[in-house]
Amino acid sequence: MSIATVYSRAQTGMHAPLVSVEVHLSNGLPNFSIVGLPETAVRESKDRVRAAIINSNFEFPARRITVNLAPAELPKQGGRFDLPIALGLLIASKQLNENLTQGYEFLGELSLSGELRKTIGILPAAHACQIIGSKLITSIENKKELIPINHNTYFCASHLLDVCAHLNNIKKLVSEHYEISDQQNLAQSPMCDVYGQKRAKRALCIAAAGQHHVLMIGSPGSGKSMLASRFPSLLSPLNETEMLETCSVYSIANVSGQQRHPQSRPFRSPHHTVSAVGLAGGGSNPQPGEISLAHNGVLFLDEFTEFDRRALEILREPLETGMITISRAAAQVEFPARFQLIAAMNPCPNGCDINQYGQCECSAEQLKRYRNKISAPLLDRIDIQVSVPKLPTHTLFNSTVTPQQDW
Ligand SMILES: [Zn+2]
Repeated sequence: MSIATVYSRAQTGMHAPLVSVEVHLSNGLPNFSIVGLPETAVRESKDRVRAAIINSNFEFPARRITVNLAPAELPKQGGRFDLPIALGLLIASKQLNENLTQGYEFLGELSLSGELRKTIGILPAAHACQIIGSKLITSIENKKELIPINHNTYFCASHLLDVCAHLNNIKKLVSEHYEISDQQNLAQSPMCDVYGQKRAKRALCIAAAGQHHVLMIGSPGSGKSMLASRFPSLLSPLNETEMLETCSVYSIANVSGQQRHPQSRPFRSPHHTVSAVGLAGGGSNPQPGEISLAHNGVLFLDEFTEFDRRALEILREPLETGMITISRAAAQVEFPARFQLIAAMNPCPNGCDINQYGQCECSAEQLKRYRNKISAPLLDRIDIQVSVPKLPTHTLFNSTVTPQQDW
């Protein structure tokens, strides 16, 4: 029988639905076609697979090849189906025994020489495999992302030949956990290093304990950004479920997290020129935005009034529900977005130093226009508003108390 079925996984939002990769060889003029709603990168798979099979010293069948990715209505993206298609071809052409792939699922892009490359969004697929008890074989480049997964449920290979050797029991792949390097330190800059600003520190402590959103209002240079960047140190490390959710979002967005420790809470501080799509997520193939990358962590919006009002209004729904729904013609996907919002703004458009001069020099009309940039329903969702005054220099340099005592 010149037919083979190998299992793989697609990716829609945070889910990784099962995909059957069916390969059929029939008589007729040599041809290679892929059906089942493949996007461009999947259609190009046939050229990569052909070269990878030939360069791995296997025989590429000179027959009529049909590859079906089922279910047909599910959109398929990326090069992740290269490995299962290549294995399906080897089985259908009797170069590999079909029984050997039972209980396995495969994900990985192939290079022309047969090396396995990274798959974007591997973590939801690996978690789905863990739930149903099948073993995943993927590229060694994905190993770092698989930290939240039980290492007995996946194998990482670097070449198509390594996968075949494993399946044929010639040389087994070793399943081992990725070791976290020393640079990925869980410890963050602590809040207790900060001199003064007792009221702001107390407000942030209360916000950390009660998961409240905070708006800090203070003159330029008063330390708002510094206080916000130290806020994650007040939060507990991520638990296992939270770590899986947060790492899954980073895996799908293909964001490295800048040496982020997998258990540390994310801290995202997008620039105020960020677009609505950049903040909320989107695109024709929906990708998570900054609010989802801040899931289980902190979203810091500095210069709060300078953000595009349309982008800010998008925050209203996720601030309530902890989710963002993105609807596109092809699909509707949901991404998690349960974050703590820390916003910072100047008290007035000119950033007057109200402490030094006693009062602001801006006109009432200027102030009104400035404050109207933030809508009332959005302000309503921010539980704590705290003013962060600029401290006189002598309180910082002539202080007899250490920051640790200054609470
Ligand atoms: Zn002013």
